[in-house]
Amino acid sequence: MTETNLNPNNIRCVNEKCRTLILKKNSAELKTNLTLPEMTSKSEKISSRGWFLSNIYTFDNIGVTKPTQMDSFGNDFRFLICAECEIGPLGYLDNANKSIFLAEDRVFQDDA
Ligand SMILES: [Zn+2]
Repeated sequence: MTETNLNPNNIRCVNEKCRTLILKKNSAELKTNLTLPEMTSKSEKISSRGWFLSNIYTFDNIGVTKPTQMDSFGNDFRFLICAECEIGPLGYLDNANKSIFLAEDRVFQDDA
């Protein structure tokens, strides 16, 4: 059984001098206890808790890096970064599997 748990608040850039709106509230479903493979091409660790989206255009503002690689995710794999200040990675875009993930602990959420 899957619980629907949409983001209750606007999600913004984690950089306090930036705070660009990344995702409006009620846009994406929070998922937890994911098992993510180890990063190979970057030393950055990405949280296993966050929001999955199926369409990049759901974001209000987002930037993506050039393609990189990650074990078992294929070649067309990119990191999400802030469109304004380019802080990141905030999550990833996996074009091969058409999945987009935004890590909960890499973003700032407005108070309800
Ligand atoms: Zn930013």
